[in-house]
Amino acid sequence: MQFRDLKKQYDTLKPSIDASIAAVINSTSFISGPQVKELEDRLAEYVGVKHCITCANGTDALTMALMTWDIGPGDAVFVPDFTFFATAETVAFEGAVPVFVDVDDATFNMDPDKLEKAIQAVLDEGKLTPRAVVPVDLFGLPASYPEIRRIAEKYSLKILEDGAQGFGGMIGDKRACSFGDISTTSFFPAKPLGCYGDGGAIFTDDDDIAAYLKSIRVHGKGSYKYENIRVGLNSRLDTIQAAVLLPKLQAFQEHELEQVNGAAAAYTELLKDVVNTPMVPEGYLSSWAQYTIRLENREQRDGLQAALKTREIPTMIYYPISMHRQKVFTGMKLYQECPAAERLCETVLSLPMHPYMEKADIEIVAETIQDFLMR
Ligand SMILES: *Cc1c(COP(=O)(O)O)cnc(C)c1O
Repeated sequence: MQFRDLKKQYDTLKPSIDASIAAVINSTSFISGPQVKELEDRLAEYVGVKHCITCANGTDALTMALMTWDIGPGDAVFVPDFTFFATAETVAFEGAVPVFVDVDDATFNMDPDKLEKAIQAVLDEGKLTPRAVVPVDLFGLPASYPEIRRIAEKYSLKILEDGAQGFGGMIGDKRACSFGDISTTSFFPAKPLGCYGDGGAIFTDDDDIAAYLKSIRVHGKGSYKYENIRVGLNSRLDTIQAAVLLPKLQAFQEHELEQVNGAAAAYTELLKDVVNTPMVPEGYLSSWAQYTIRLENREQRDGLQAALKTREIPTMIYYPISMHRQKVFTGMKLYQECPAAERLCETVLSLPMHPYMEKADIEIVAETIQDFLMR
């Protein structure tokens, strides 16, 4: 059994992916070929925003968004304590201070009440300027944007949606990557929509921001590449990656998002009376980057992981260390405790999950979990 079976996906989509890659090689338009623009148009339409700017990876996408707002030394940016390192890393990379916010242990996402408390703590101290909040759509589930938007407006903060794991998710009839003033995603192979290397994208409705992002993506170009009007990066999406993503986006829209939700429903049906299964709030749709259960404590979690391993069932611990406990951030001021994030690090376990998962495999995983917990 594979944790995320990219081979099975390739076997299913092989004719269209192979033809799409071959067309790029035949044309030799390896950088900024027409497939890149076509992909950006399709992604913007699917997400429901005006502009999509693809880039080299999801980390650059976050960095470029922070550059847009000129976030740097003296600024506070609020990030969830339970996330992948890049969310906080990019804030620190720009010289700003990541302020860690505790999460809701049922949704794994930033707790809006804790966000407001963290903002107030920073304001009370008076040393940093609160500038932005970076909610993460963890494991595929959009963060609580209606509540977070209200708080962001109250304190004049920008919202940067880190949708690296959230592509395809929804709140009501709105798609993930449309909830931020700027939103980003990643096409790392194991993400809900993955390419065959590194890739990322930035989404915005703002024409000026889109123009700025297109400039810094190519060395701060002005009217053309060799006129440079600001300091930027080299952060383009390769044409070959765009060519891989075009047929994969089609499959994602036509059947994969539905299939992965079917797999999640099957897991939940079999496991809901056995362990803490992931919670999707009313009106929300997850794209299931991960299917993550919660155990009673570390001992039980680690024991279950070992038991699954003996049956050759791969699992992952996303995430074993919360942000404020990462070595590079220890000693940084913690404006509030993050007990929920710390507890999750000890109790979470992510199970094999992807759109091509067989019902029989889901049953084997569920039975193994049941057997272990009833011993
Ligand atoms: C994967 C990920 C990123 C970074 O994306 P890369 O394409 O790997 O640079 C950022 N934030 C979150 C939450 C992620 O899961």
